[in-house]
Amino acid sequence: MSHDKHKVVIVGGGAGGLELAAKLGREFGPEHIVLVDKADSHIWKPSLHEVAAGTLDIHREDLSYFMLARDCGFTFMHGELQGLDREAHQLTLSAVVDAAGEEVFPVRTLAYGTLIMAVGSKSNFFGTPGAAQYALALDSTAEAERFRQRLLNELVTLNRKKTTGTPQILNIAIVGGGATGVELAAELLEAMAGLVYYGLNELDPERDVRITLLEGADRILSALPEKLSATAQALLVTRGVSVKTSVKVAAVEADGLVDSEGNRYPADLCVWAAGIEAPVFLTTLGLETNRLHQIVVDERMRTADPDIFALGDCAQAPWAGESRSLPARAQVAHQQASFLRPVLRARIKGESEPQEHFRFRDYGSLVSVGHTRGVGSLMGVLKGKSWFVEGLLARWMYMSLHLMHHMAVLGPLRTGSMALGRLLLKRGAPRVKLH
Ligand SMILES: Cc1cc2nc3c(=O)[nH]c(=O)nc-3n(C[C@H](O)[C@H](O)[C@H](O)COP(=O)(O)OP(=O)(O)OC[C@H]3O[C@@H](n4cnc5c(N)ncnc54)[C@H](O)[C@@H]3O)c2cc1C
Repeated sequence: MSHDKHKVVIVGGGAGGLELAAKLGREFGPEHIVLVDKADSHIWKPSLHEVAAGTLDIHREDLSYFMLARDCGFTFMHGELQGLDREAHQLTLSAVVDAAGEEVFPVRTLAYGTLIMAVGSKSNFFGTPGAAQYALALDSTAEAERFRQRLLNELVTLNRKKTTGTPQILNIAIVGGGATGVELAAELLEAMAGLVYYGLNELDPERDVRITLLEGADRILSALPEKLSATAQALLVTRGVSVKTSVKVAAVEADGLVDSEGNRYPADLCVWAAGIEAPVFLTTLGLETNRLHQIVVDERMRTADPDIFALGDCAQAPWAGESRSLPARAQVAHQQASFLRPVLRARIKGESEPQEHFRFRDYGSLVSVGHTRGVGSLMGVLKGKSWFVEGLLARWMYMSLHLMHHMAVLGPLRTGSMALGRLLLKRGAPRVKLH
């Protein structure tokens, strides 16, 4: 069957896919560039811990894909990829139904010339008994919002009980001491201070709320330099977070966790942030996948199918010069999107494709440990050297990463006016989302 060779379909409008769609859309327009996403709005995933804590209001932060499509010149199709016919170069998108079960969009098919898979990843429970049932993950805005609502309800109930003199403690357990777990712990401390300010006067978070961060390795942020781990841990511990390392969580129960040694950790709320896997449907596409369901790609992001590429968290890509694959980070997805742009440009124009291999440039990592604190290790300032940053400077640099993503999608003018608008709106809004 013939297919339109010059039509690029990108599935997944996240950190990588949306940037690619926006940049190609501006260049080639909606007849050539199609973005598919199961959600109807975009949020930069690294800010989901702020949505979960309530320090970022999703209703102010998210960007409608329909608006982005109009502004950036691509076609947006709302729907979840549910089938791929590689022979016919055709995708099937699921029907979209609203909260009342009414069909908004029917099942649709969509032809592609080149397909880019950029569907990201989700939390990996590693088969831990009870984890999928009792722990919450921060994989989507819906899940982050669910956590926020539960936290708010628990704190309001705790505050009410305090007025009757009932002694009680709220236990929050976070499984996984990577960047997500560390940033969530810090953000929760900020949020609770805000909630006390706005009326939960009976609460003393230091006394009434216990946050426990459980990490399987012998230090938190184990993928990052030791100095960074030690600084982040010291900051968390000083602020009352209980950090437990070398703890392997063996089971999650309704009211707590059990580790491999049989120790119990009480938990009214449990967040799972201990690893990722790609969506399992990727294993049904007839492409090579690894044990994390990621699509295996080569140094040019190509799969074994010459018309299908994959990028970001859903891809296992070789890391030039290293014995491991590229890490699941926004920085990788962003750079891969930039790498694929000239390749796709050539395919759309019918020209020969550039033959260069992708080389990841690691600029280091920044971790937010509160609204005025951050820690980070920046690479490449001097060749082979890393530069340690902390405090307000690190926090500002961390915030600028989010702005840079917006800039790649919206351009500098729109990003500037949006940032200014949000700054002004913030002055009239509570520091924490209260409803
Ligand atoms: C709380 C949190 C904090 C993080 N902090 C950092 C950080 O500080 N620094 C860092 O580098 N990384 C961080 N990350 C990781 C980072 O968010 C990811 O590496 C990055 O978002 C991956 O980009 P992506 O484009 O591959 O996928 P994503 O950004 O996850 O986007 C995937 C998109 O695909 C869509 N999709 C999924 N399945 C389908 C389907 N079947 N059909 C249609 N659409 C689909 C989703 O709706 C989504 O829009 C964090 C992650 C989390 C959860």
